[in-house]
Amino acid sequence: MTHRTGRIRLWAWAVVGLAFISGGAAAAEPEWKVGLARVKVTPERPVPMAGYASRNKLSEGVEADLFVQAMVLEDRGGHRAAVVTSDLIGFPAAVAEPICRRIEAKTGLKREQILLNSSHTHSGPQVTLRAKAEGGTSAADAQRAVEYTRELQDKVVGAVTTAAGHLTPANLSWGSGVINFAMNRREFTPNGVILGVNPRGLADRSVPVLRVDSPDGKPLAVLFGAATHGTTLGGDNYRICGDYAGFAQDGLRAKFPGVQVMFMLGCAGDSNPYPRGTMALARQHGETLAAEVERVLGGKLRPVGGPLRIAFTRVDLPLQTSLTRDELTKLAANKRDARSFAAGQLLALLDKGEKLPDHYTCPLTVWQFGDDLTLVGLSGEVVVDYLARLEKALGPNKLWVAAYCNDVFGYLPSAKVLAEGGYETRGLYAGGAGFFAPAAEEVVVRAVRELARRAGRTLPE
Ligand SMILES: [Zn+2]
Repeated sequence: MTHRTGRIRLWAWAVVGLAFISGGAAAAEPEWKVGLARVKVTPERPVPMAGYASRNKLSEGVEADLFVQAMVLEDRGGHRAAVVTSDLIGFPAAVAEPICRRIEAKTGLKREQILLNSSHTHSGPQVTLRAKAEGGTSAADAQRAVEYTRELQDKVVGAVTTAAGHLTPANLSWGSGVINFAMNRREFTPNGVILGVNPRGLADRSVPVLRVDSPDGKPLAVLFGAATHGTTLGGDNYRICGDYAGFAQDGLRAKFPGVQVMFMLGCAGDSNPYPRGTMALARQHGETLAAEVERVLGGKLRPVGGPLRIAFTRVDLPLQTSLTRDELTKLAANKRDARSFAAGQLLALLDKGEKLPDHYTCPLTVWQFGDDLTLVGLSGEVVVDYLARLEKALGPNKLWVAAYCNDVFGYLPSAKVLAEGGYETRGLYAGGAGFFAPAAEEVVVRAVRELARRAGRTLPE
């Protein structure tokens, strides 16, 4: 940026800042147009639930509704993008890509302009187009999950289409807060890493908040994040709800009637809420998060200007190829090992005479908002180690890292986590088979840095 445009930009900031303080009577021309839509996706009958293999029956009742929500943004140059949030376990590529193709046809938005995120609630329905009768699920019940997912796809397309058709002038601003209930869950024991509690481990406790206001300063929408699993509730819960993220959104909706409240999940791969295990705790964490978002909204937020520049790619992440049939047989047989499922899938490939796949292709996206904010959309259940890598590769400021975007194929472990072992090394569970190689981490970091460069973020050396 030249000195001159820098000064113009500062001046524009001052005007926007004044508008916030004065209530916006003399607001500059808004930087954005925003369209919003929300659709209820609560299952209308009992369904197989997602997230815990230990469950042996369908859902029983609804504790709180689930929603899919769309926000379509358009900058002054007409560059558009759609972010979709959902109180769901996650969109695997097989579910997400047909949705995106239909959105492209209906709205003209291109694939790279669409970001689908999920809160990863473990108290919601399965999201799958493959009927899997297993773990006490009958074939008819498994079919219910598929029917639910087809209706869900229609609703997502409908929400984005509605939002894209109702753009109104708006200003964006953002800030960040903190929560303390995000806990690293990789507990080191004499018998290896278990799913437990690790208070000395890393967890991303930040709460990014994007506020959308009408030109006269009236709030229209809030998009906020956190980075811990939707697992306050365990596998013994059969009531449908959005876990802490759902309750946080409900609480904010009650506080700000008419405002669209959306949750986007971050690098929560190796983080659980703490403490956990009851509906009361899920509600408590939701209240804590909602109160923090409200606090941030009431504080000083930084204006977010355009233009919006998006860089999207699909990268080939290397998978381990050196596993022998003997090793896989042993792994597959040990049902207590989290890697058993993926090992079984690889064995089945070998049995068909196929080779072990050497990569998995996943989408990555970067949205650059002027010089004000970079939104990174990672796919998969990304562990927190990636955050430190990306902060170094991209610079730590004006950065929002979301995960669970566009394709939730399984965990994305770091090289460190792969070396240490534990649940997050379990391998792909949707859309492919295999275990990530340690080199996958470097591929992701390099690819995101390149996307950020293409999108116009100023990068560190
Ligand atoms: Zn998970």
